[in-house]
Amino acid sequence: MAKDKLHIRPPFDLGTPMLRVARGCTHGKCRFCSIYHEPFSPVPMDEIVADIEGLALEATALTNRIFLTGGNPYALPTRILLDIFDEVEKRIPTVNSYGGFCRIADVARKSDEDLLALVRRGVNNITIGAESGCDETLAYMRKGHTAQDIAEQGKRLHEAGIEFTFFYLAGMAGAGKGQQNALDSAKAYSEASPSRILVTTLSPTKSWPLAEAIDRGEWTPSGEVEAQREIQTFIANLNCACNVNCSHDTDIIKFEGMIPEDQEKMVELLDHCIPKMNENAARRLRAMVLGRRSF
Ligand code: SF4
Repeated sequence: MAKDKLHIRPPFDLGTPMLRVARGCTHGKCRFCSIYHEPFSPVPMDEIVADIEGLALEATALTNRIFLTGGNPYALPTRILLDIFDEVEKRIPTVNSYGGFCRIADVARKSDEDLLALVRRGVNNITIGAESGCDETLAYMRKGHTAQDIAEQGKRLHEAGIEFTFFYLAGMAGAGKGQQNALDSAKAYSEASPSRILVTTLSPTKSWPLAEAIDRGEWTPSGEVEAQREIQTFIANLNCACNVNCSHDTDIIKFEGMIPEDQEKMVELLDHCIPKMNENAARRLRAMVLGRRSF
């Protein structure tokens, strides 16, 4: 079975069976990523079919969704994705929904007709590593999209009827730049209007391409308190209806709420908790949770 060595899924898809349809990531340039070491390639259809047969053995009448894996499975041509869905539904007829990670650039490369074809087959609640809506931050980290791309492709997904989740990566701008990152990101994300935002905090490690820039003194990680203040500013400035989930294992202050209903409460919670934070303890805690060498 073509298994991903990394079983990365967003919290709402933790119980969703995974089907690997591609290897690697088409981009592979982000300075804060060392997940995929192999270039992007589609998994051959006979391997995918063998994996679907394996999933079918464990499927129940409640198995209605499949999480496609590979760094960015939606980079595959739409025709191939539709063929994969056919093979899934031949063997697991209860499936009518597909999730998975997607890049902003993958959406941009799909035509409106492609997006409609995908949503008609059940592609929904996809997860996008937008990470930031600040152009300076995105360019430095070589993310491969801009704030305008985020807003434009978010609108196209809405028009097609595909719901989507964005990641927000606090601390991605580095020390001293968190507030600007938060303000720019809140603007771009509000225009794109994701239904959910998963907030995590950047935890630089020695294995990332960014490590060299840190060693040279070119880029400095933001402090723990600074990252929490950044998250607070980001939430305070969001202007779209969405769920905000800040409950990753590495999040120091965990909470979840809706914008706009809980916006003020989330900001107040951070105001209450941030002054009680211990910078070193928070850093050590996150390093321990990650279980890897960090800065
Ligand atoms: S797009 Fe995602 S998987 Fe690809 S290099 Fe960037 S962070 Fe890593």
